[in-house]
Amino acid sequence: MKKKLIAGILAAGMALGLAACGGSASGSSSEASSSAASGSTAASTEGVSGAAASTSASSTVSAGDMKLVEPGKLHMATNASFPPYESTTDDGGFTGIDIDIATKIASDLGLELVVDDMDFSSVITSVQSGKSDIAMAGMTVNEERQKNLDFTESYANSIQSVIVSKDSDIKSIDDLKGKKIGCQEGTTGYIDASDTEENGGFGEENVTAYQDGATAVNALMQGKVDAVIIDNEPAKAYVAANDGLTILDTNYDEEEYAIGIAKDNKALYDAVNSEIKKLKEDGTIKGIIDKYIKE
Ligand code: GLN
Repeated sequence: MKKKLIAGILAAGMALGLAACGGSASGSSSEASSSAASGSTAASTEGVSGAAASTSASSTVSAGDMKLVEPGKLHMATNASFPPYESTTDDGGFTGIDIDIATKIASDLGLELVVDDMDFSSVITSVQSGKSDIAMAGMTVNEERQKNLDFTESYANSIQSVIVSKDSDIKSIDDLKGKKIGCQEGTTGYIDASDTEENGGFGEENVTAYQDGATAVNALMQGKVDAVIIDNEPAKAYVAANDGLTILDTNYDEEEYAIGIAKDNKALYDAVNSEIKKLKEDGTIKGIIDKYIKE
């Protein structure tokens, strides 16, 4: 049930995106105006003409229209313990797919990227309250989050995977019923797994939220939980790093990642959404993902 709902939202978003692409010429100025039509649900009720007019004047989006936390900088709210999308480096820097994409977007807009590292559960509020400009954290688009931020087109697909110990009797999603499950707090893995059974979840009483994925996996290793539900790429990283764990062949859910921007920052939304479209079309995003994820 949950799955269908999310798939429906994504399908609607993609249909809008496609419609906008179909109507636009290849120049970036028309891309900017079509993105105003394709964007959030808020855009459609606002009416397209005003928003389109404000961004279509030049091919490079003028930084003057955008609200930024700091002039000349693009602050990205993230949780840098989500490899290969974002993690810290030994020299105190940041690396990953999201970091590379955001660096490219910032430089195309004439801005310098600043990474604001925080708990995943603070990322949305940081953007909503104007402390960061964009939320980019392997963040899955869902209905609830769309009430708080406007999301760009998606730039990556993900799945929720189930990690169990190799000798576990859990072999399928159905086997999870009544078992103890660990997740990372605030994530879609937690939100969906802790939902009621009618909604495709396993009941709040059976799901524990840990501060991060690593702590959830430690709980699994210590036998405090029977399974961990988490995004597939970090799941692969945890299984590779810890003997005795495996990922179930069946996935719990399918999701898409996008960038979230404050609802009152339409000019920044249009600029970043146009960038995402461009970087998808010209293969830049695929190149970055392929660099970090080797099949
Ligand atoms: N994709 C998941 C979510 O949006 C997890 C993201 C994360 O932990 N960084 O909830």
